[in-house]
Amino acid sequence: MDRENAMSTCGVCFGKVINTDIPLHSCLQGYEQFHYDEETSHFYPLTDDNVLIRCKIFDGKKEVVLQNLDDFEKEKTDSSISKKLSNKSRQKATLSFDDEEVLILEVRAREPLWNFQLNIQERNTRITNKLWNEVSQALGGKISAEGAKQKFKSLHDTYRKIIQAENLASGSARKNLDRKWRHYESMDFLRDLCLIKQTVSNMCSVEAEHD
Ligand SMILES: [Zn+2]
Repeated sequence: MDRENAMSTCGVCFGKVINTDIPLHSCLQGYEQFHYDEETSHFYPLTDDNVLIRCKIFDGKKEVVLQNLDDFEKEKTDSSISKKLSNKSRQKATLSFDDEEVLILEVRAREPLWNFQLNIQERNTRITNKLWNEVSQALGGKISAEGAKQKFKSLHDTYRKIIQAENLASGSARKNLDRKWRHYESMDFLRDLCLIKQTVSNMCSVEAEHD
């Protein structure tokens, strides 16, 4: 089978993704690397310190699991490989950690971009487009307004998964969550909103990137 055209499954949202598009998949945004499980054709976001993120269905509910790659591997055969994303396959807008932190701060300062509880008149497309442009400018144009919007969406998705996992986790699962995601503190302003809106469609989407 031609590996390039083969489909794999995201271990977070369970979406099917063409292998060549894996690095662009929304669940991987904000991570430098991913883990590909050859045996099951599943892929998972992997943090810098090799913590693997996946979802499992538990009691009919989707639950996020953070697990050391080593522990995950122990449960698998040794046919898995871990890959670094090449620069070429990264999303167009590659921001450094500091850039991402600036992005978060700039978005935070513009409430219509994240507070869905504001009146729609206060956060209509004209307003939000203007604000995303400001965010792009604040980042020195390293990322476009649309790129900033996409990037923040993926950061928000990651944060939401973690917060919802913390909310669901009990006992031993919670212990694993002590390993904090690198933007955990700066995204704290979204915590309450993340817990209000809890639908599976929010967890992650497989939607294609558009221009
Ligand atoms: Zn996914």
